[in-house]
Amino acid sequence: MKIIDAHVHFSEIESFYDTARNLASIEYTTEGLLAEFTGSNVIAGVGMGVTETIAGAFPDPAAANPMLLDLNDRMPDNLFTCVGINPETLHLPGQLEALEQSLQSPQTVGIKLYAGYYHYNVGDAIYDPVYRLAHQYELPIVIHGGLTYADGGLLKYSHPLSMEETFLKHRELTFMLCHLGDPWVMDTAALLEKNPNLYADLSGWIVGDKAKVQRLMGEQTYVDHFRRAIVFAEKYDRLVFGTDWPLVPLDAYIMFVKNLIPEQHWEDVFYNNALSVFPKLRQWVDQKNKK
Ligand SMILES: [Zn+2]
Repeated sequence: MKIIDAHVHFSEIESFYDTARNLASIEYTTEGLLAEFTGSNVIAGVGMGVTETIAGAFPDPAAANPMLLDLNDRMPDNLFTCVGINPETLHLPGQLEALEQSLQSPQTVGIKLYAGYYHYNVGDAIYDPVYRLAHQYELPIVIHGGLTYADGGLLKYSHPLSMEETFLKHRELTFMLCHLGDPWVMDTAALLEKNPNLYADLSGWIVGDKAKVQRLMGEQTYVDHFRRAIVFAEKYDRLVFGTDWPLVPLDAYIMFVKNLIPEQHWEDVFYNNALSVFPKLRQWVDQKNKK
């Protein structure tokens, strides 16, 4: 089965290096990523743009827009970008123009908001120009949901229910909420039920190596936490596979998610739904298949 990993990272972020090295036993390089892609039949990935101006500063209030994939290594051809937004600098001269320019790249397939990391509700007027551009360029808005991977986050801004009005107000846009909003996965399930423009990715539920994934697969209570929301929502056409690499190895995490999704829905969850969220990725796949 062909797989798309709809949520990876590929940026010079100190905490990603630390986790890759010390917790996940991952080689956080182009070669490392491509070896894992090939090993798991992942034909493309979507990287969530994020940058820090000082090591360890993420979420960095000084980062310029758009935040990109800036890992100091060769950019893989099959790695696409959701450009990241730093609301703190968005008002500065040239920032919106730089953002708009980046949206025109064939590699840019969406826009990422770091709710919780940055202390703004996604409905704050500060994001209005971003929603306008997303509509103009027909790009989805991907939003961090749930726990933050930095203790400076504010969870009231990354709680799925804090986003409800935005999903309703902007029916013209496609949204993808990351991590199924974990730990508020039932809240996200309820939002999936009533917002046809909302998708959710299944990334980031485990940080660590293969042994840790295997251990958590044996923890019935942990597994049921996600299964309850997945079964309750019954929206297999809007759940999107992703990993949050380099925080967890691809092969182990694929196994974890396969265990949660009925096999008849694997093609959709692991491949087709990502193409529905990211129309530019679909164009790339269509062109590749023509060759
Ligand atoms: Zn992530």
